[in-house]
Amino acid sequence: MKHYDYVLVGSGLFAGTFAWHAVKAGKSCLVIEKREHMGGNIYCEDVEKIHVHKYGAHIFHTSNRKVWDFVNSLAEFNRYTNSPIANYHGEIYNMPFNMNTFSKMWGISTPAEAKAIIEEQRGTITHEPRNLEEQAISLVGKDIYEKLIRGYTQKQWGRSCKELPAFIIKRLPVRYTYDNNYFNDRYQGIPMGGYNVIIDRLFEGCDVLLNTDFNEDREKYKSMGDYMIYTGTVDSYFDYCYGNLEYRSLKFESVLLDTDNYQGVAVVNYTDAETPYTRIIEHKHFEFGTSPSTVITKEYPVTWQPGMEPYYPVNDEKNQEIFARYEALAKTEKNVSFGGRLAEYKYYDMDKVIESAFGLVEKLLGADRI
Ligand code: FAD
Repeated sequence: MKHYDYVLVGSGLFAGTFAWHAVKAGKSCLVIEKREHMGGNIYCEDVEKIHVHKYGAHIFHTSNRKVWDFVNSLAEFNRYTNSPIANYHGEIYNMPFNMNTFSKMWGISTPAEAKAIIEEQRGTITHEPRNLEEQAISLVGKDIYEKLIRGYTQKQWGRSCKELPAFIIKRLPVRYTYDNNYFNDRYQGIPMGGYNVIIDRLFEGCDVLLNTDFNEDREKYKSMGDYMIYTGTVDSYFDYCYGNLEYRSLKFESVLLDTDNYQGVAVVNYTDAETPYTRIIEHKHFEFGTSPSTVITKEYPVTWQPGMEPYYPVNDEKNQEIFARYEALAKTEKNVSFGGRLAEYKYYDMDKVIESAFGLVEKLLGADRI
């Protein structure tokens, strides 16, 4: 049996960023992936030449020049700028909250008018916010909370905003300019040809075992290399000895429609409480697609249960305490590094996961490799 310098468990961005640098440094890599495809959550499915973001809409954005240069060395990026729309019972608002939103909501036109209304509405909360509702009102006032935050957040977390802790929304993006760009980052876009172009490049030169769950024979897979990079869930690695870490999960319902343009924009958030889904994604708009048909995906938040896809970690006190115990255990493992969103039980944007993998490259392969 071939012996490798590195065994990588998982084939997402974290493992891929490390693999790319390792292969360049002349190291051999074996990738073990339990799904039937590579790429982790950035994987796209090709439906009628439309790149469908199978695990949720992914928009690349960063202010880190090194990360931007790195991903651009793998694929060319288009000029996509995320400007989602909010639909509240058929009323359309621009996101993030900016002068276009305020103008539509209150019929006003200047930043001074908007500031005065928000100031007046947030004035109702004079104490330290005790829950998410009070936190949101203290940040953006009552109207925006009622129409654009309350229903959406309740669907997202499966609980009333009064029962959710204030810390979930420390800040909310409020802009007193007519700027619908959702992100503040310096660079933004979608890889031309879809994310699979990047995945293919990252794992060039690696051997790959698909449909292979590391947990089914840990010792065997671990012994196939000198060193292991593990990007699966940390609790499963340790047989859930301190219990399950909790997540929020998502259900996606995709449909191919015989129309060239369903909603005119890639992302529409449904912010009322009654519509059961939180968003509809129309994938072709990420790449300015011109095909005669379109694919839309409705996104439903669901309560996670063991066996479901883990999407968003529930970083509350209880889960953070459990994670701290797993983290301490992970530090005692010899010749293994734990990285990425599942092993670190952390919500990571793509650029941050690449940044974190750069750190591991520096540690294991040398600072000159970045
Ligand atoms: P993953 O991509 O999850 O890769 C882990 C891999 O390990 C998976 O392929 C998994 O199958 C495999 N694996 C797990 N356990 C095992 C095992 N036991 N054996 C073998 N293989 C295993 N970021 C942005 O910057 N912009 C966005 O717009 C954005 N949108 C998002 C939308 C959603 C709904 C979610 C959930 C995340 C979003 N992100 C976004 C974050 C982005 O998805 C992550 O930063 C990135 O995917 C993390 O990469 P990773 O390698 O850590 O994990």
